[in-house]
Amino acid sequence: MPTVIVATGNPGKLKEMQVYLNDLAWQLKLKPDDLDIEETGATFLENARLKATGVAKALNQWAIADDSGLAVDALGGAPGIYSARYADSDTARIDRLLRELEDSRDRQAQFICALALANPQGEIVLETEGICPGEILLAPQGTGGFGYDPIFYVPALGKTFATMSPEQKEANSHRGIAFRQLMPHLATLSME
Ligand code: IMP
Repeated sequence: MPTVIVATGNPGKLKEMQVYLNDLAWQLKLKPDDLDIEETGATFLENARLKATGVAKALNQWAIADDSGLAVDALGGAPGIYSARYADSDTARIDRLLRELEDSRDRQAQFICALALANPQGEIVLETEGICPGEILLAPQGTGGFGYDPIFYVPALGKTFATMSPEQKEANSHRGIAFRQLMPHLATLSME
């Protein structure tokens, strides 16, 4: 059974990624806490590649990385790749976003998730990007999930990510979409 390092330090993302990857005959391991790869890319995909390659090379093992975030139309795509660095806590990030958006009538936004898988030599062998469109509410709703979930509303379901069950978020989220795009390729990959 191949060992694959999950290149994230975010417990919310790790929890979701484990659910997707559990279907594969992989032994999943968390990246060591002290191994930090700088996210210097200009896009989600570039950052996912950097993290997968950096962790794979450092440990000489397979590594899968995700880079994700929220792009708000009326803010020119912000916070985008800076979603995690927008403020110091989930609450502060949500407060800042709502403050910057004020009472803007354009509330369109999208969650984006890039995934990259690197082999032990650090070469990217698979990558993809999943997008989930939605709207930013005027105030948070719900306590589930993590990050910006309480203010991200999916009109088709009439719910925020934070009021969905984990299964419903998995079925509709940017991360779920990206993993479903990747799974058929992961399942047939020769990793020995
Ligand atoms: P990074 O990919 O670790 O650089 O961080 C992505 C950041 O985007 C997270 O810390 C969250 O703030 C936000 N984010 C990414 N995916 C989600 C999600 O599914 N729900 C809520 N926030 C998310």
